[in-house]
Amino acid sequence: MSKDYYKTLGVPENADGDAIKSSYRELVKKYHPDRNPGDNKAEERFKEIGEAYDVLHDPKKRRQYDQLRKYGAYDPRRPNSGGAGGFQGNINMEDLLRGGMGDIFGDLFGGRRGRGRQRVRSQAGQDLNLTVSVDFLTVALGGKVKISVPGDGRCPVCKGSGGQPGTDFDQCPVCEGSGTVSQQQGGFAISRPCSRCLGRGVVPRQPCQRCHGTGRAPGDTAIMVTIPAGISEEKRIRIPGRGEAGEGGAPRGDLYVRVVPKADGTFRREGNNVITEEDIPLTTAVLGGKLTTQTIHGEVSVTVPAGTQSGAKLRLKRKGIANKAAGRTGDHLVILRVSIPRKLTKKQRELFQKLSELD
Ligand SMILES: [Zn+2]
Ligand SMILES: [Zn+2]
Repeated sequence: MSKDYYKTLGVPENADGDAIKSSYRELVKKYHPDRNPGDNKAEERFKEIGEAYDVLHDPKKRRQYDQLRKYGAYDPRRPNSGGAGGFQGNINMEDLLRGGMGDIFGDLFGGRRGRGRQRVRSQAGQDLNLTVSVDFLTVALGGKVKISVPGDGRCPVCKGSGGQPGTDFDQCPVCEGSGTVSQQQGGFAISRPCSRCLGRGVVPRQPCQRCHGTGRAPGDTAIMVTIPAGISEEKRIRIPGRGEAGEGGAPRGDLYVRVVPKADGTFRREGNNVITEEDIPLTTAVLGGKLTTQTIHGEVSVTVPAGTQSGAKLRLKRKGIANKAAGRTGDHLVILRVSIPRKLTKKQRELFQKLSELD
């Protein structure tokens, strides 16, 4: 997945500044959106060309890029770099464009360089918060849902080690296994994660081909989440170790999932009670009768007592949500609405008239 800026610009790796510039000019002309209206591919290409040029025409950035590339530690676009902060074990292009490697590593050590002591903070992954919309019945009854976790999981091939499966690891020649390198800056010794081994202290003889040695895989991973019956919107399900990947073997953050039920055409919820509404004919309301209603546990036949008023509630005990956290099972409530006939047949009218004479 690694981006090759040289390929993007169609120049060899040893191309000089002029060659890069002239190739850039030609490509920009060719892929300019004005010349390719509505062509998304051309637009994407145009952006890539700009990005590549931005790096390759600047000798300092180009040097850093070459270095990263050589060590196979280059991961162009980690999707959600913004909020994480700090060194995450791979290098984001935007960071590189903004300030170069020094700043990326520098962020980590803000306020941590007292008394000449050198230490590297183990960079645990960030916690992730997700809100998922789940259908009413799954929330009410509990179940499993598949969710996509954004950000970067561990690389599935090397399991985060950065090495091709089965490869041996050697001590990192740059940091000699410490995972950090020291630099003198204004009289202070500042230690930074080693960019060669990404702070691991070891380097694989063969870098993982899938992740180019970063140990991380961009993109989404699908995981199954168990939803306890009747979970409320205020509660979060904590899934330990499913947040963002940590750096260099540091633990991953946790994932917190909030469940919001989708609106349902039949059911509505009040606490652990489930509510439905049913229309009943006037005669059933007056004389009583039977009616079939839908509960979350299936269809149930209920008896409507004679003399039922519109808005009356029938309670079906323990046919609601079995919320373990609440310690009891809710009820199902049927709200009855009496339908008053809008049109009467001749016969019906006669009968109603007789009724009213009786009153
Ligand atoms: Zn890998
Ligand atoms: Zn190293």
